[in-house]
Amino acid sequence: MRKKADILGIPIDNVTMEEAMAAVKKFLNEDKVHAIYTPNSEIMMAALQDNSLKETLKAGDLLVPDGAGVVLASKILGNELSERVPGFDLVNNIFKMSPEMKPSFFLLGAKPGVAEEAAVNIINRFPDVKIAGWHHGYFSENEENEIIEKINSSGADILLVALGAPKQEKWIHKNKGRFHKVKICIGIGGSLDVFAGKANLAPPFFREHSLEWLYRLYKEPRRFRRMLKIPRFLLIALYSRLSGKKYN
Ligand code: UDP
Repeated sequence: MRKKADILGIPIDNVTMEEAMAAVKKFLNEDKVHAIYTPNSEIMMAALQDNSLKETLKAGDLLVPDGAGVVLASKILGNELSERVPGFDLVNNIFKMSPEMKPSFFLLGAKPGVAEEAAVNIINRFPDVKIAGWHHGYFSENEENEIIEKINSSGADILLVALGAPKQEKWIHKNKGRFHKVKICIGIGGSLDVFAGKANLAPPFFREHSLEWLYRLYKEPRRFRRMLKIPRFLLIALYSRLSGKKYN
């Protein structure tokens, strides 16, 4: 049974990193495709305004709270999530458990050339990880059949989808029924850029204090408008708590 916290109508799994990893292991042993999403406040706010994104998230098999804002919203709503489970850390932990479970990965997304560089760096850091294939993330709908075929024939168990949110969540939702061997699809945002060394993680101080969003704003000031979604999301949570208004 999934333990979930209802955050404005979106059921976020109330899991620790350890429990999320246990779910990943379970999914790898089941004969079906599972979708893992890692919503932050921006995605949650976008889902409140876009019903198809909301339905996509609701259909996920595991939704972990990537951002501190989602955990804060859960506290405001009186539905406290136990901890933040950043998607990037989850993927690193899955790489670390590779010697035990031996899954193979397909990397889909980022600019041409980036997934290859990410693959090389991942294998250097985690020599037991098997990368079955990759494809960049700038493809048209006409090329989709070919890409799905490439993923299926690679034999990959885990598909890491780095198309940015909410494109990656919608892409997974639309296509997950077409995979033959993939057991898990995960939306990983800009993580391939980080693995490839094209983008940096926030320095430890910002990560330890859940201030990645502030560092990101400093590095990419053009994201300011998008980031206004974070306080709006928290204000809606506060309004819901104080007024008793329910979202579903
Ligand atoms: N991207 C892609 N195809 C697209 C749009 C974006 O592969 O059509 C990639 C982009 O190159 C980057 C990632 O998706 O690697 C998005 O990163 P961002 O950090 O903006 O995503 P977020 O973490 O905000 O979801």
